[in-house]
Amino acid sequence: MLEVNAAREIVLRHARRLPAETIPLTPAVLGQVLAEGVAADLDSPPFDKSMMDGYAVRAADDGERRVVGEVAAGGSVVVTVGPGEAVRIFTGAPIPPGADAVVKQEDVTADGGVVRTAHSIKPGQNIFRRGQEMKSGDVVVPAGTVLSPVALGVLAAVGRTEVAVFPRPAVGVIVTGNELVEAGTRPTGGQIRNTNGPMLAAQAARAGAVPRYLGIARDDETAMRELIREGLESSNVLLLSGGVSVGKYDLVPGVLKSLGVETHFHSVRMKPGKPLLFGTKGNTLVFGLPGNPVSGYVGFELFVRPSLDAMLGREVLLRELKLPLSEPLAANHDRPTYHPAVVARDSVRPLPWSGSADLRGLLAANGFIVLPPGAVKLAAGDAVSVVLTNG
Ligand code: AMP
Ligand code: MG
Repeated sequence: MLEVNAAREIVLRHARRLPAETIPLTPAVLGQVLAEGVAADLDSPPFDKSMMDGYAVRAADDGERRVVGEVAAGGSVVVTVGPGEAVRIFTGAPIPPGADAVVKQEDVTADGGVVRTAHSIKPGQNIFRRGQEMKSGDVVVPAGTVLSPVALGVLAAVGRTEVAVFPRPAVGVIVTGNELVEAGTRPTGGQIRNTNGPMLAAQAARAGAVPRYLGIARDDETAMRELIREGLESSNVLLLSGGVSVGKYDLVPGVLKSLGVETHFHSVRMKPGKPLLFGTKGNTLVFGLPGNPVSGYVGFELFVRPSLDAMLGREVLLRELKLPLSEPLAANHDRPTYHPAVVARDSVRPLPWSGSADLRGLLAANGFIVLPPGAVKLAAGDAVSVVLTNG
């Protein structure tokens, strides 16, 4: 049976960066990846500017200086500073010609239009030189930059209102099962509420994609085929929940086949979530996730999330680390097992958990301990493999 890492490699071979598109620069672009290098369209600062409130002077002069004018931020320079002269200046204002330093106002005594300073003055002090931050033509934000608040500020500084980025993948979500009702309905008889639809859509959103919930497909081939056809047409990634195993009502694999989806694998050596199907149709990736909520959650984090990173043009991070256990843990599973856990800075704590249907047991989890197959008896302090899932 396929191991998790090998299965993920297969997924990543099919996950291609989406074609770039140009979008407005709003906070909605945070985390998207720049598809073009962006150059400065002017020098910054565009003029030598004062970093202090004070007086623009000639550093080489000594003694008293006569104040011959004033310039504030946003103002333009009207006077030249000659020998023995100073111009009153404020932070952000352009340095007047002739001056080569700014003395801050705390360092002078002003008296009837004359200023004196006891400090020595260095040429260039308190002046931010034209082009010191960036020069016109410099590529200041390279292609591949993950857009951050700082990047948005710098892009604004160079006059950009829109940029080319790799778009957010459209992720369609379809849940399957005759037993399902939506959250607004009280289940009766053998019904249960649909937890996977909201959960998977939220996982897609957290991973930087745009989820589209397409509804419940009943365990009926014709109905299922129509909804899945719609999902295939409108999604870069289509997530199907349930119906993917080998039971009589597990219709997803057959329906996918009838719609021309090529299946690349249909089971992975892991617990929970062994019956996990991955297929493609054209450039669309299709994941058939098991219906048990925890299986779906883990399957998304291990396989779907890295594929979304790749489509977004991000580095594919696996968020794996090793940490000591905070308490003993014993287990005996036939496959590598993902056990919900609270991952802290210096240790990891396993949570009480009753298996793949126990989603509530994951509420406090921000990751999973990866347990090897077979009997394991771990003591507090033993190092274990951990996968982070939050953030
Ligand atoms: P399946 O993979 O379709 O055999 O479903 C496995 C288990 O998960 C069954 O107990 C289902 O009732 C349950 N299940 C399937 N889909 C969902 C869903 N969307 N929300 C909550 N539980 C589900
Ligand atoms: Mg089912």
